[in-house]
Amino acid sequence: MKPETFDWVIHNAWIVTADKDFTVIENGALAVAGDRLARIWSLDDDPQLPPGRQRLDAAGGIVLPGLVNAHTHLPMTLFRGLADDLPLMTWLEEHMFPAEARYINPDSVYWASLLACAELLLSGTTTIGDAYFLARHVAAAVAEAGMRAVVAQGVIDFPAPGVPDPAEKIGHARAFVNHVAGRADGLIRPSIFCHSPYTCSERTLKEAKQAARDLKVPFQIHLAETGDEYRHLAGKYGCNPVQWMERLGILDADTILVHCVHIDTDDIAVIAGAGAKVVHCPESNMKLACGIAPVPEMLAAGICVGLGTDGSASNNDLDLFGEMGSAARMHKVAMDDPTVMDAATVVKMATIDGAVVLGLDGLIGSLEVGKAADLVVTDCRAPNLVPIYHPASTLVYAARGADVSHVMVGGRWLVQDGRLNGLDLERIVARVKEAVRA
Ligand SMILES: [Zn+2]
Repeated sequence: MKPETFDWVIHNAWIVTADKDFTVIENGALAVAGDRLARIWSLDDDPQLPPGRQRLDAAGGIVLPGLVNAHTHLPMTLFRGLADDLPLMTWLEEHMFPAEARYINPDSVYWASLLACAELLLSGTTTIGDAYFLARHVAAAVAEAGMRAVVAQGVIDFPAPGVPDPAEKIGHARAFVNHVAGRADGLIRPSIFCHSPYTCSERTLKEAKQAARDLKVPFQIHLAETGDEYRHLAGKYGCNPVQWMERLGILDADTILVHCVHIDTDDIAVIAGAGAKVVHCPESNMKLACGIAPVPEMLAAGICVGLGTDGSASNNDLDLFGEMGSAARMHKVAMDDPTVMDAATVVKMATIDGAVVLGLDGLIGSLEVGKAADLVVTDCRAPNLVPIYHPASTLVYAARGADVSHVMVGGRWLVQDGRLNGLDLERIVARVKEAVRA
């Protein structure tokens, strides 16, 4: 019998699998065949490296699943640093919405999204949960970058980029879903995103959720982000944000609730009972002083919570390593308990749990044979990463996106030795600067 030949064999690595037992292999190796993970093993058990077309010596670095940024707005790289140190409503109504009306067009969305993809790839993210307007152009940029994503078309009750007549918003979202569903490569999946319960009416929310149900795609919404939102809904509908979603019949296993800062124990039980998913964006919540989402309580109730950066206008970067560090630290302070949100829990949130949130866990999120070859190699020769006792700890508390050396998506190297393959970063930066100057 002919010995199996792999396309790539990566060896001399710590392998953080993020599988259900959170298996970590020291001195491990991993083989890729085509677009799939074909073998993962300990070199202590079998030191023989099998034939591979190419080999990568990870030099004692950490190989982990490609990170999943479960909530962001790629085109908002355009507004990075435009308006900081403001409350959410001032930031949104006086700065973001007017800036979007002026600067957002198909061209700027495409180039700003490509800039975001470059930043995400270089810092180890392989899968994106995106939510914005002109989503076709976001999807085109993600496809150009070769990344994996769930891309959502935004729905809001006033004129938005690409949807000047709000009466057409649901039809527009449906058309986007059908457009992406017709694509052949399978890296991008569509979704529908309602901006929030304070920018979408009862009718809009119901119709958008119904469209998502009809088309069998995830429904996403910013929910319970601020105290203002909580008070707005209490005054208008006599209920809190989670109760409002429940009353409208929106909560189910295909609903993704982003933020969930202002929720209580009863709300957590409702979300858990419905099987809805949550995305935690600690840095955006801190920067806009929204509050602290009760993530440890949500996890204890069995809710799947992924991790997101939110857009780079409210963060202001897309580095999921930084987000992991923030998530691990903020809840320790909030709960006066250093044992909550341990490193392994946080790594899972940024990998397999994010994959569950986006409905992609059968394909990605952990390093397991048969899953897609989406992985990240960190160069652990950097002084901030020496020595390694517990690789999850290294990843959460010491590593930065800049420590990523290699990134593979579906068996293709998109980053090698810290450099982008296939994307012309200089051109992308020039086009974004041009869009901003215009
Ligand atoms: Zn957001």
